Amino acid sequence: MFAAYAYSREQFEALSGIRQHSLVESLKSLAKSLDSNLSVLNKEPASDLVAFARRIEAKTVHATRAHDPQGVAEQNRVGLALKAAGIYLQLDDSNYSVAPGSVVKPDGSPYKVYTPFFKTWFQIFDSKPEALAEGVTWSKLADLNQLPIPDKEAPFNVVAGEAFALRTLARFKQRALFDYDELRNRADLSGTSHLSHALAFGEIHPRTILFELADSPGHNVFRKEIAWREFYADVLWNKPASQTEYYEPRFAGMRYDSGPAADEKLAAWQQGKTGYPMVDAGMRQLLATGWMHNRVRMIVASFLIKDLHLEWQQGAAWFEQQLSDFDPASNSHGWQWTAGSGTDASPYYRVFNPILQGYKFDPRGDYVRRYIPELNHIMGSDVHEPWNRLDGLINGYPAPIVDHAAERDEALLRLKEIKIS
Ligand SMILES: Cc1cc2nc3c(=O)[nH]c(=O)nc-3n(C[C@H](O)[C@H](O)[C@H](O)COP(=O)(O)OP(=O)(O)OC[C@H]3O[C@@H](n4cnc5c(N)ncnc54)[C@H](O)[C@@H]3O)c2cc1C
Repeated sequence: MFAAYAYSREQFEALSGIRQHSLVESLKSLAKSLDSNLSVLNKEPASDLVAFARRIEAKTVHATRAHDPQGVAEQNRVGLALKAAGIYLQLDDSNYSVAPGSVVKPDGSPYKVYTPFFKTWFQIFDSKPEALAEGVTWSKLADLNQLPIPDKEAPFNVVAGEAFALRTLARFKQRALFDYDELRNRADLSGTSHLSHALAFGEIHPRTILFELADSPGHNVFRKEIAWREFYADVLWNKPASQTEYYEPRFAGMRYDSGPAADEKLAAWQQGKTGYPMVDAGMRQLLATGWMHNRVRMIVASFLIKDLHLEWQQGAAWFEQQLSDFDPASNSHGWQWTAGSGTDASPYYRVFNPILQGYKFDPRGDYVRRYIPELNHIMGSDVHEPWNRLDGLINGYPAPIVDHAAERDEALLRLKEIKIS
């Protein structure tokens, strides 16, 4: 058997440094687990795979079925090119416990709200890990096996691969799974699994994770988070345009800010210089590690949309560049949920207060100090309001670029204009 990974050089070069490195580390690890028998094809997937299949005289090429819009389009192109060469593309299974599109209401229509989706998903979800292929001998075409060389430097080490993912899962089970329901929202603690990168790159299958779970509060909440990933994949599968367009179209008509002043605010947000410690710590965690805590993702997203009045797509594009766990469905719909334009539209408009969120989810201020050295001189939770102290901003930390209370009112006013209460 031959294993190949095909990607387009052009797409690879368009990726940010962190995502190039993540992919290369993933491929290195995959190659290692196949005793170096991985052929990496890096010009253009359709023509590369046709040439490859012809050389090894394959009649069928197997791949995991993609469900995101770009992946589906790519597999359609490859399938047609192979078909023209008399070769069959066999697509199986998915990177989900239940394939997107399979969890439907009794009338066959897709779910738009998570909780009823979860109830049905819970009836049919599969937690049986795939058996490893026994007795397979892997071969390669020597001159095709070139791993890509990242053009851009990643600012930190990336560790990837299946073996690392399995170790991460084992450590999470010992470290935090039992108390996951209590600790997962605490930004200052390591209370979550950090498995998002491995899930996004297909290094671990969700069934392998679900198989480990029992019936306890911590385990049950963790299973529900895995199901959020499945829900968003299902939503995107049913409405591919929602990767970049408003799921709820009325929000496209809302007033948003643009122009040089708005661009300056966007840059301050990206660099973690808004003057709101919890927002800035999150944005700097992203720059420093390629990952951000889920609670803080919601806080920074709410700030971009409701305090800076920018469109969610601008934030999602920055996350796409910077996140090592970037996933099209979870990213776009995580943003749209926070914007209020996505699934699970709530009867009230969610505006996160970045100060109160700091006191609640970083009660000792440790998370903020870890990422904002200019605030290291402030002990305890006072770090969430440095402007209240005479010495708060002496190390160059900026004053708030906007007034949260005023911007909250402004956000509610703009919302009223599109008549959503
Ligand atoms: C604005 C925004 C953007 C996001 N962008 C991404 C993204 O690009 N890629 C991504 O994987 N996740 C994204 N998320 C979801 C979530 O923040 C991350 O999955 C989580 O922080 C990853 O850390 P973890 O593996 O330790 O999570 P854990 O808490 O350990 O959860 C386990 C797994 O469940 C899934 N999961 C958990 N929470 C969510 C959620 N809210 N939505 C969907 N899946 C979830 C993830 O696969 C995660 O790895 C985003 C959330 C928001 C609010």
